[in-house]
Amino acid sequence: MKSTSPPASSGLALDPDIPICQTDLPLGWYQDELRPYAEEYLALPDRKPATVLGWMDRYVKPARAHFGDSLLLLAHFYMGGEIVKLVENYGGAVADSYKLALQAAQNPEKKVIVESAVHFMAESIAILAADDQEVWITNPKAGCTMEMLAKDHMVLPIADQLIERYGDELVVVAYMNTSGRLKALAGRTAGAVCTSSNAHLVVEWARRDGRKVLFVPDQHLGRNTAHRLGMDPGRIVTLPDPQLRGGNFPLTDATIEGGMQALDRAEMILWGSFCGVHTIFNAEQVKWWQERDWQVLIHPESPIEAVNQADGVGSTDFLWSAVQNAKAGAKIAIGTEGHFVRNARELGKQRGVEVMHLAEIPGMQSGGCGCATMSRNDPPHLAGLLDLLRKGEAPKLNRVLAGDAVDEVTGDLDRLKIEERKTLIRDAKSALQAMIDVTEQANS
Ligand code: SF4
Repeated sequence: MKSTSPPASSGLALDPDIPICQTDLPLGWYQDELRPYAEEYLALPDRKPATVLGWMDRYVKPARAHFGDSLLLLAHFYMGGEIVKLVENYGGAVADSYKLALQAAQNPEKKVIVESAVHFMAESIAILAADDQEVWITNPKAGCTMEMLAKDHMVLPIADQLIERYGDELVVVAYMNTSGRLKALAGRTAGAVCTSSNAHLVVEWARRDGRKVLFVPDQHLGRNTAHRLGMDPGRIVTLPDPQLRGGNFPLTDATIEGGMQALDRAEMILWGSFCGVHTIFNAEQVKWWQERDWQVLIHPESPIEAVNQADGVGSTDFLWSAVQNAKAGAKIAIGTEGHFVRNARELGKQRGVEVMHLAEIPGMQSGGCGCATMSRNDPPHLAGLLDLLRKGEAPKLNRVLAGDAVDEVTGDLDRLKIEERKTLIRDAKSALQAMIDVTEQANS
């Protein structure tokens, strides 16, 4: 797979005097195999880095010595609990979901890849991994709530109805925050995957020859992208809230807003999912900061009213770079995930740049929140999994293969048969490659 994505790092360091910021998880949330590690962690006298690292070293150092250069540790920027810094402390890399997805393909010498983030991100790495590379996730129940409202059993019945009605006219664009099964759907319709930074390029390309786009799963990114491309809002249809209807409903005048006529006229059909972390933002919050001379930057998973009012919009990579490159004295309010903003604030402090969370406004009700599901990966998950991998005793559930579907509540795993997996990889890879080609062509 072609790509030119650079390696990743946060540029942050662990401060020995600041305790690890991680809410302890209840013991019952750990898999049986990881519980002994959690018990030890919970019994530590404090959460100071020296204490936590001293404990983690007992497990992580032997694992690193055992696997040597073949081990790659990864984390996403949204990870809480200083996992970002802990992973980097042990030589790992931190990135957004796009750069994470490319890490196996870009590092063929890495044979054991351990990811601390949500499941779809680990699965994206697995789709692009070579046969001799294994991908593992520290907590397989760490799901993305946006993706959880767009499971294949919800989306595929609707996609089938749309394909039956529109045939080759329909093309699916799957945001990176989808399972491999939906990325493969995009590939089957000659569509593509997209990220928050290239969605406008991918959707514009997908609309070639007047094709109708089904955008999954995030309605806000889809709507913001359509607006950026100047599409007529009257020709955008949002499918019913998946929380209420799931995906198992017939497309009829009764179930579609505006009826089937609106669907037939639509240039873009939006799946109704969303990220609760980003939908708390609104235009009033943006104005509040702007009136006080703050620059406001926001992630495009946020509602369109807030995005249109902001001074800049872009992916986590864009937001991080904005803080990294801001001049001393700059004041930036950021509308995205809480742990990310906390880390960005630390980065800003090192450079004389003030950073605040967009929703942290005195007197307003909403406070900024972090991605709770991503934070289900914590120090005992990381140390425990590495120790179990070294001993050859890692649970099967933590291995991530393309096409895996994990129930985030029960931990039940639905794993495809090998031939099904090969087909899924072929289709999902074609959707990922289409994204890379479109993006690289635009940037060349
Ligand atoms: S922040 Fe939202 S979109 Fe991102 S992983 Fe968490 S739940 Fe999913």
